[in-house]
Amino acid sequence: MKDLLTTDFRNAPYWWDAAPLAESAGGTLAPSYDAVVVGSGYTGLRAALTLARAGRSVAVFDKERPAYGASRRNAGFLGRTLKKSYVALKAAKGVDYASAVYRDLSMAYESTLAFIEEEGIACHAVRCGRLVAATSAAHYAGLERELAGMKADLGLPYAMLPRTRMREEMATDLYQGGAIIPDLGSLHPGLYHRGLMERALSAGVTIFGNCEVTAIAQTNEGFRVTTTTGETRARDVVVATNGYTPRSLPWHARRVIPFVGYMAATEPLPPELLQKQLPHRRTVIDSNLDIDFFRPAPDSPRLLFGGATANGLEDPAAIAALLHRRLARPLPDLADVKLSHVWTGQCAGTFDMMPHIGCHDGIWYGMGYNFAGVPMGSFFGLKIAQKILGLPTEASAFESATFPTLPFYRGNPWFLPIAMRYFAWKDARLARSA
Ligand SMILES: Cc1cc2nc3c(=O)[nH]c(=O)nc-3n(C[C@H](O)[C@H](O)[C@H](O)COP(=O)(O)OP(=O)(O)OC[C@H]3O[C@@H](n4cnc5c(N)ncnc54)[C@H](O)[C@@H]3O)c2cc1C
Repeated sequence: MKDLLTTDFRNAPYWWDAAPLAESAGGTLAPSYDAVVVGSGYTGLRAALTLARAGRSVAVFDKERPAYGASRRNAGFLGRTLKKSYVALKAAKGVDYASAVYRDLSMAYESTLAFIEEEGIACHAVRCGRLVAATSAAHYAGLERELAGMKADLGLPYAMLPRTRMREEMATDLYQGGAIIPDLGSLHPGLYHRGLMERALSAGVTIFGNCEVTAIAQTNEGFRVTTTTGETRARDVVVATNGYTPRSLPWHARRVIPFVGYMAATEPLPPELLQKQLPHRRTVIDSNLDIDFFRPAPDSPRLLFGGATANGLEDPAAIAALLHRRLARPLPDLADVKLSHVWTGQCAGTFDMMPHIGCHDGIWYGMGYNFAGVPMGSFFGLKIAQKILGLPTEASAFESATFPTLPFYRGNPWFLPIAMRYFAWKDARLARSA
């Protein structure tokens, strides 16, 4: 087991090497703010930045150090995809709804890239393209149907890659072919988040770290916000806690399904070995329900990868062993490489597998990103701020009237391990039938 890990192994996100967490900022709590934001990830900070630049006084609270959440822990894939496929959505709810959803996803994707460029945030944002690797012949056929449907209705580009040509994209014989989505992108999530945070601070946002919001109560003039360091008041409140949503926000906690995402980084690899694994430096995700995903690090010759979502492991050495097996299966050339970083982060699913933005009892929220929060969190943060400012903004397809929950569900997803085992069994069954 020890041989799997480098001598300088860290049980922390690779991204924190370049973008370490700030020490708790903050200062003295003011008696009131125009807006209070709960959570210092992309959603919270993008909302806070937009509000502050419009002249509002804004306090952001995080119960951990600022940036502790998924926004500096994710894989940095920038896409416009959802767990719910376009074809399935179209069949269930019609072409107008499905197109509106996927247009919003495209808008989130494009607007995030445009924001990064306008702000000059140096975070390795590139349109590198994505390889979706099919784990069975049935998945390959389904992928082709999905991408052809999106191309016909929305004009989104793709190219199928038959099994015989897979090695042009990845040093593997495991998959049954795949598809290239050439215009999707990637970034360094830590540097993106750090750039966002620097801009929020320069715009006058106050960020309180290690300061948990424990209660939000409506008053005649707005809200009374209770935190672990005192009380303040706010005209508007934004809840941006996604996979870290606490039970003290019961309405929100009842609607998101928190689950743990797992990632690792290899030690620096010889450049030619890395080049052989992913010659076009695209992001890669497989077609399983229980996904594996891979990408080159943008700033060093390492491979970053993840998978085994919500498997329940907590011991870093056990996580490293599991992820290492899942790396070596598709990429046998890497069977002997060591891992330098292993980390986890909290994501949020929803019962309808859709992200949600809205306002409940006067409190704004954006959450439930289902692994698509890099563009969607940034986009929802912007939209929420525009709504608070009363600016004209197009209604989002994700502003549905209902944000579903289940009877008796209080935010403890006891059913997740069973669901993940079922997904793994279903993936394996499909692969065997190929
Ligand atoms: C391993 C992993 C890989 C992922 N890969 C991708 C990817 O490649 N592409 C993609 O688009 N998405 C990905 N995601 C999802 C994406 O990272 C998230 O959807 C996104 O970062 C959510 O941002 P956020 O601002 O809404 O929440 P977060 O960044 O998670 O921030 C929420 C914050 O709320 C704080 N908080 C909670 N309760 C309180 C309270 N009571 N008081 C004060 N603060 C509180 C938490 O401490 C936390 O810092 C991944 C996630 C993980 C974990």
